Amino acid sequence: MLIFPTRLNNIANMPLARKCLLTGAALLPALLITPVQAEWYQENQAIMGTRISVELWHDDPATAKQCEEAVFTEMHRIDALMSPYKEDSQLAKINREASQQPVKVSPELYRLIEQSQKISELSDGAFDITFASVGYLYDYRERVRPSDDEIKKRLEAIDYRHIVLNPSDQSVEFNSPGVRIDLGGIAKGYAVDNGIRILQRCGVRHGLVSAGGDSRIIGDKRGRPWMMGIQHPRKKPGVAVALPLSDTAISTSGDYERYFDEDGQRHHHIISPSTGKSASGIISASVIGPEAISTDALSTTVFILGTDKGLALIEKLPAFDAIIIDAQGKMHYSSGFQTPSEAGNEQKDSP
Ligand code: ADP
Ligand code: MG
Repeated sequence: MLIFPTRLNNIANMPLARKCLLTGAALLPALLITPVQAEWYQENQAIMGTRISVELWHDDPATAKQCEEAVFTEMHRIDALMSPYKEDSQLAKINREASQQPVKVSPELYRLIEQSQKISELSDGAFDITFASVGYLYDYRERVRPSDDEIKKRLEAIDYRHIVLNPSDQSVEFNSPGVRIDLGGIAKGYAVDNGIRILQRCGVRHGLVSAGGDSRIIGDKRGRPWMMGIQHPRKKPGVAVALPLSDTAISTSGDYERYFDEDGQRHHHIISPSTGKSASGIISASVIGPEAISTDALSTTVFILGTDKGLALIEKLPAFDAIIIDAQGKMHYSSGFQTPSEAGNEQKDSP
């Protein structure tokens, strides 16, 4: 079902028709004086195991191209630093050595691990980058998963409190054997924010950077909001909800990205730290807020917490809202949204 809920924050608050009219009227004198060359530029690349998309409005084709390229270069840089699959990444070095000795890392990686730890504390351990201590045993493409015995043996290694951060030398140490970390629940959001900062430095006032399920937009789409579709978790292609947004970030975590089904059960990439198995109860969790690093980590967190605890967490964070689709297909909205029926009632009630 396609519904168009009204979000109280971040939606373009001017009536659409009026805005277009204003834009058109403002442009007219400029059109007569100088040829307007500004246009939309859009480019995609496959990086970090996902589709990176950059879209922007600019008046100079060469600058637009350079800015797009700079975003893709930044994504490659972050991937090289944080991929658990690249042996020479700093993250792989942490996983190899931090159980034996402290590993010095770049200030950037240190900060990201620190931020992950804060979300672990906020979520009572639902978001936990040490999920990888068990998570590395899954290979969704090859339909491989750990046995219950293997999970039991390694489950103790999942605990964010095993990570010891030393600010004086920016080092990371694990105080327990068998611990591994993976930043897959936060790194793409971080990369999107960096991409957005690059576009802002390029003078872009209308633009979008997205990495798979994590997107952030600058401004509106020139007189109207960006329509951001939340993927239907069971129909591809299909949109469950379309949201009119501007100047905000949105992330979606779903059980349909990396998974395999076995004996009627879905094994997917979002792991509950308490069981070492895929989290159930929700099939899609989207979070909207000012920065993609937070919406990325929080969408994963809400997915793991489940509908009630997930919404309760979001209600405690005034800058964020969430849309959840539960395993029964029911949609749940945080209080920052008005569903069409609520909006109708409000109109009826108002004088
Ligand atoms: P995507 O990577 O498709 O954007 P998410 O943002 O939902 O999806 O993040 C899922 C990723 O988060 C997984 O692939 C994994 O790397 C990581 N992850 C899985 N479980 C947890 C967890 N409990 N805490 C933190 N990160 C997790
Ligand atoms: Mg996420």
